[in-house]
Amino acid sequence: MFQQEEYDVIVVGAGHAGCEAAAAAANMGSKVLLVTMNMNTIAQMSCNPAMGGVAKGQIVREVDALGGQSGIITDKTMIQFRMLNRSKGPAMWSPRAQSDRMRFAEEWRLTLEQTLNVDFWQEAVTGIVVEKGTAVGVKTQLGIEFRGKSVVLTNGTFLNGLIHIGEKQFGGGRAAEKGSTGITEQLKELGFEAGRMKTGTPPRVDGRSLDYSKMEEQAGDETPSKFSYLDTPALTNQRPCYITYTNAEVHEILKEGFEKSPMFQGRIKGLGPRYCPSVEDKINRFADKDRHQIFVEPEGWSTVEVYVNGFSSSLPEDVQYRALRKIAGFENAKMFRPGYAIEYDFFPPTQLNLTLETKLVQNLYFAGQINGTTGYEEAACQGLMAGINAHNKVHGKEPFVLKRSEAYIGVLIDDLVNKGTDEPYRMFTSRAEHRLLLRQDNADLRLTPLGHALGLASEERMALVREKEEQTAAVAKLLKTHAIEPAEINGWLTEIGSATIHEKTRVVNLLRRPGVDLPALARVLPGLTLALAPYRPDALEQAEILVKYEAYLEKEHQQAARVQELENFTIRGRLDYHAMPALSHEAREKLLKIQPETLGQASRISGVSPADVSVLMVYLGR
Ligand code: FAD
Repeated sequence: MFQQEEYDVIVVGAGHAGCEAAAAAANMGSKVLLVTMNMNTIAQMSCNPAMGGVAKGQIVREVDALGGQSGIITDKTMIQFRMLNRSKGPAMWSPRAQSDRMRFAEEWRLTLEQTLNVDFWQEAVTGIVVEKGTAVGVKTQLGIEFRGKSVVLTNGTFLNGLIHIGEKQFGGGRAAEKGSTGITEQLKELGFEAGRMKTGTPPRVDGRSLDYSKMEEQAGDETPSKFSYLDTPALTNQRPCYITYTNAEVHEILKEGFEKSPMFQGRIKGLGPRYCPSVEDKINRFADKDRHQIFVEPEGWSTVEVYVNGFSSSLPEDVQYRALRKIAGFENAKMFRPGYAIEYDFFPPTQLNLTLETKLVQNLYFAGQINGTTGYEEAACQGLMAGINAHNKVHGKEPFVLKRSEAYIGVLIDDLVNKGTDEPYRMFTSRAEHRLLLRQDNADLRLTPLGHALGLASEERMALVREKEEQTAAVAKLLKTHAIEPAEINGWLTEIGSATIHEKTRVVNLLRRPGVDLPALARVLPGLTLALAPYRPDALEQAEILVKYEAYLEKEHQQAARVQELENFTIRGRLDYHAMPALSHEAREKLLKIQPETLGQASRISGVSPADVSVLMVYLGR
């Protein structure tokens, strides 16, 4: 054996999934080997330099609450922070950070190097060592065999990656990086089904060549928040982004390139992310729109490189260049690198258990883009869950699965495993039926106790959660009892167009009015300000949300509990689907393939109808 003892967990790939997997397993006490093709690209942001956003920000908070690293690293390396959707209800508030691409990657590498129990090996893995149906190690290009009790594959866009720019195409996992061969072929031989997907990225330009005076400035929040529930630094200084637009001239030039487009000419076979289309796709599909928004995003504190968000393209580089220069502010733009599209292999995730372990090979886990997802956040949370479960399995501990009512992470994995995906899967708030409960403000309350019980979230985190819980309860009580005299508040109520009060009124009743919030009340009521002074800002916010939306939240909890009843019926191994003639053909096929753990999981498989669920219930004697 070369160099090492046997590992508990071998992680292949150091992207967003691989880094979280390695950190989680190691922090829980596993001996981890992280094998990656290039140690200079650990945690590389392949596309936009940003973390979070709608639904994705909630995921980063959840990763943090469980004891993962992405939130901490984002806080340490961001250049701008915005809480999106502030004008909507709190279930929609979504943190988003503009990141320093190089600092983000550097901070991840430092974090991993400082994590006890993580060893590194820089090389391409070409195959998994499988003995008696169980993964026991990996083989590398040099022919080295590393032994491990479990293997987590997080190959991202690298498996048989094929890059397209106009009529040119060449192998690669990402710009200027080799693709990975061997793994797909071996897994197919073992009986896995593989598919092909596509994604794309815009050109990067030289910020010194742009005229920002022709663009709209988009500043960060005045009081920037952050991702981690730990005491990470908040920003004191931020870099602005800018907004500009395409126009008819830009569209005309881009159209000239259509006949060389790998997408329109059918050279790209894989399906791309519907919600992140290329600029040529946008002007083709929405021909009536005379302009599209472009976000001009700096790639860091000290680099001049700029990311042209909204201009993803695989048209020939000269077409991209000419079109770019017709955008307001880009007249003299110099390009650092063109946009491109990439096709890669993925494995339909219905081949996984809810722990992300494959059904075909024991102790083999898949996480990230390899499962058909897109996005750093989606990858990071799968990596975390795969790392936790690989550790638990090899140490004889229980699987760790999050429910749909507990976390976006639970929704994501449940969707992947039960419904599969034939286009790059990204998270949306609309995918979470219990989104009122799954807010970015309460991920710590929901998940840190679970992370702590796993041995992943630190005692420091848990202590902060206990304090927040106590303070929230105290503030909620105060808001329900503290009453205001009409004379104290009527002037302000008139000012904001809200009806005046005629008797002493409890704060909670004022808070439930539209346009009234706690910070505003505290500004006009010195007595209330004094009463609230001892409490943490996050406890104030939490208590405000709880009392303001009490009735809705209560209803949502009841609904989640009702759904949970189906989840409590374990059916795996208990039912013979062949012996149930009343099941539809499709339902039988899907149930046999997916082998759901519970009745709840069975009910969410596409193709299993409520009538099929009733059949299962009859057989269960319900
Ligand atoms: P990656 O971040 O791709 O990391 C994979 C890691 O595995 C790399 O470190 C690689 O070196 C390593 N590796 C691969 N094979 C091997 C091997 N055989 N042996 C050893 N190491 C190996 N997401 C969006 O949300 N929106 C977008 O618009 C978007 N556009 C994208 C455009 C491009 C061109 C690319 C490449 C990606 C894009 N993404 C986009 C996707 C985003 O980058 C990924 O979702 C995310 O990075 C996936 O994380 P991951 O950990 O699964 O894989």
